[in-house]
Amino acid sequence: SLHASDIAHSMHPYTNMRAHEEKGPMIITKGDGVRVHDDQGKEYIEALAGLWSVAVGFSETRLADAAYEQLKRLPYYHSFAHKAHEPSIRLAEKLAEMAPEGMNRVFFTNSGSEANDTVVKMAWFLNNGLGRPEKKKFLARNKGYHGITIASGSLTGLPGNHKDFDLPAIPVTHLTCPHYWRWGENGESEAQFTARLLKELEDTIEREGPETIAAFIGEPVMGAGGVMLPPEGYWPGVEAICRKHDILLVSDEVINGFGRLGTTWGCQKMGFTPDILVTSKQLTSSYMPLAAIIVNDRVYDAIADNTAKLGTFGHGFTGSGHPVACAVGLENLAIIEERDLMGNAARLEEVFQSGLRSFADHPLVGEVRGTGLIAGLELAKNRETKESFAPAGSMAPRVVAACADEGLIVRAVYETVALCPPLIVTEADVAEIHARLGR
Ligand code: PLP
Repeated sequence: SLHASDIAHSMHPYTNMRAHEEKGPMIITKGDGVRVHDDQGKEYIEALAGLWSVAVGFSETRLADAAYEQLKRLPYYHSFAHKAHEPSIRLAEKLAEMAPEGMNRVFFTNSGSEANDTVVKMAWFLNNGLGRPEKKKFLARNKGYHGITIASGSLTGLPGNHKDFDLPAIPVTHLTCPHYWRWGENGESEAQFTARLLKELEDTIEREGPETIAAFIGEPVMGAGGVMLPPEGYWPGVEAICRKHDILLVSDEVINGFGRLGTTWGCQKMGFTPDILVTSKQLTSSYMPLAAIIVNDRVYDAIADNTAKLGTFGHGFTGSGHPVACAVGLENLAIIEERDLMGNAARLEEVFQSGLRSFADHPLVGEVRGTGLIAGLELAKNRETKESFAPAGSMAPRVVAACADEGLIVRAVYETVALCPPLIVTEADVAEIHARLGR
């Protein structure tokens, strides 16, 4: 059977492999709008949109057609050494048009991790080109998620991605997670918390020397670390400090981008403008793997000047700007626009978030938080002391399993139950998500 074959041959990402040998897979066979079906015929609402990514739902035939047409016309070509093809040209143009003012250049990779690896290399390449080879360190945050390759995994601030992988392996300093409920100190107001974090940033830069720090990277709203919203004023403060010290500001919008927060970009909602913006996931609704790095003219010029000096930019993937992925991305963005799915996220924010807030008094719930169409319910043994169930009696995985029984797919990230439904959800779908979660 498929089940037995999976157990015999597959190594699953993000899985306790020994437990999997006992438990076996949940095999998903079919997608239908916001729903998926498993091989037992059970139907689920996919309230995490796969991995925070399937904006247009699981059965958009326009994306299948776009892929098929491109596969017939030109299934593969690359962009190395002056070669080009229409899908990647058009998608880069489209992204430059959507991006914040002054961000006009796009580099494609296959995944968010590769994109953030590329960002690290771009920052190093750029600073070497500018004759400041000591300006190489990154600043990131505890609980931030930026991927799992050697460099992007180093930027990630989660112990589970570091332990026994010998990460971090590049120079990175992880700052306090900007989540007031969990990391605010007793008696500290939210404004004082923000001020403390900004002072920590300033102090870190002073201590290490601004001439040694290349970039600050962060998700506008943190996703995979547990859906955490920054306090008021945090991002504008970070931006001002980065500007003052000539530190590149990188907005990792792999989850936030394309309307997840109800705005095109997360940085818009959080009130800052980055130098580099990283996107993936909803870019193609993950029907094809694709990520894009969008940079401003200053970053582009510094990189381009160094390529002129060295004769090339010695970086790029076989699949960079894959024509089928780009064709799917273009069609996906067209659907998002035509159906105003970013507006849908903004319009449904209130009903989605307020329905979840009704669980705030539940004895298992510590905090309910979210914005747009992304949310987290952090479970806690004691709401007042914020004492967690984890690690001893970790509760979130049990809640997630119970949700699956009720036909609802959500995800446990540490002790937070995360929700991030496809952007096509309707008010009726949202009500059904709340009902299944409640049961
Ligand atoms: N950055 C963020 C903010 C992410 O959420 C993710 C994946 O969840 C990544 C980067 C890594 O992307 P990928 O899994 O495509 O390598």
